Amino acid sequence: MLLTCPDCTGRVSSLATACPACGRPVGGAGGSPVQPQATRRVNAFRVALAIVSVVVGIILVRRVIRSKPPPFRTTPDRPLQKLG
Ligand SMILES: [Zn+2]
Repeated sequence: MLLTCPDCTGRVSSLATACPACGRPVGGAGGSPVQPQATRRVNAFRVALAIVSVVVGIILVRRVIRSKPPPFRTTPDRPLQKLG
C-alpha cells in the first residue's frame, strides 16, 4: 500500500517510517513517528556497512583467486620438441 507524502506529495510505502524523498515521518506500521535525522543516521550506517562488506568480499574473492594456480602455466622445464 502506498501513501502520499504531505510534504513532497511523493509516494511512500505504508511500511516505511519516513518518506524516502524528504524524510518526513509518516504513519507507518510502527505508528510512532521517527525523527528523520535518526533515520538518516541509520541509513548512512547501513550504507557504510554494506560498502565495508562489499570491500571485504572483494578482498576475500581476490585472495581465493590468487591462491588458485594460474589456468595455463608455462613450463620451462619442458623443452620444445618441434621448432620450425
Ligand atoms: Zn516526502
